[in-house]
Amino acid sequence: MPELRKDPITGRWVIISTDRQKRPNDFRVERSALLGAEYCPFCAGREDLTPPEVLAFRNNGQSPNGPGWDLRVVPNKFPALQVEGNLDREGEGMFDRMNGIGAHEVVIESPDHSKELATMSEMEIERVLWAFRERILDLKKDTRFRYILVFKNHGAAAGASLEHSHSQLIALPIVPDFVREEIDGARRHFEQKERCVFCDIIRQEVASGRRVIHENADVVALAPYAPRFPFETWLLPRSHGSRFEEAPRHVYEQLARMLKSVLLRMNRALENPSYNLVIHSAPFSETRAEYYHWHVELMPKLTRTAGFEWGTGFYINPTSPEEAAQVLRAAKV
Ligand code: ZN
Ligand code: ZN
Repeated sequence: MPELRKDPITGRWVIISTDRQKRPNDFRVERSALLGAEYCPFCAGREDLTPPEVLAFRNNGQSPNGPGWDLRVVPNKFPALQVEGNLDREGEGMFDRMNGIGAHEVVIESPDHSKELATMSEMEIERVLWAFRERILDLKKDTRFRYILVFKNHGAAAGASLEHSHSQLIALPIVPDFVREEIDGARRHFEQKERCVFCDIIRQEVASGRRVIHENADVVALAPYAPRFPFETWLLPRSHGSRFEEAPRHVYEQLARMLKSVLLRMNRALENPSYNLVIHSAPFSETRAEYYHWHVELMPKLTRTAGFEWGTGFYINPTSPEEAAQVLRAAKV
């Protein structure tokens, strides 16, 4: 059973997930190659290699866990957290722990091994967004969960172990620190100004244009003012909403277009980088979240986090956001 432990000094939670069976020796091997098509458990026709699906988009009349699907969601075979059991919050002397309860699911975005998000059609990308929404709405019913993180690791440098295009959902019994920090900051801005800080950012950035990468009817892609990483990109819906899963249909449509456009620009300008993508959305406990604005963060993996970053929490970013935005604007596809 995985376990959540709280650092008694900073209050930071970590997941001790020994079930994933990493022995000290495993870390010495540089994972050079991703698991290719030959042994891929996500390819069409290999449905028996994954746990049974929890959601699939398939043509009418086809039975579950067989071929004929456009998208499948399955539980992660090596979950960081485990869905069965009670939370069991308890102290261990001065320390706090709880059972590592959570859900860990994989969205297999296409039956086709050779596709990646950037090269999928806008409709296929939109389908992925709909799958996120359906799974969030379903997992939300479980009252043990406080937050669901939707993320994607693309490429070995970004932590992916399988080549076949997929993303992941992890439902957590706590609100993660990064999300909490962002929520608290957004709330402070709202208390002072009675405006959403993200809406303010969109207004100012669109007016100046310096850090805008691309805009469409519903979504703005920009390089944030103080990015941690080179080419860090935020995709913000223009209309205010605190939760991804409550967005109207046309926003998913435009977000899919924007994702494709930005990923293709990155592929062109940065030579097909590995990247991490995360969706930031309000935690379930925030009932009145007029101060929070859901969005997508995209980070191409171009640098490594080193001692200075670990030691200080400061990130040294060698590329200014103005330059990054300019490069991606110019990398038209
Ligand atoms: Zn595959
Ligand atoms: Zn807003």
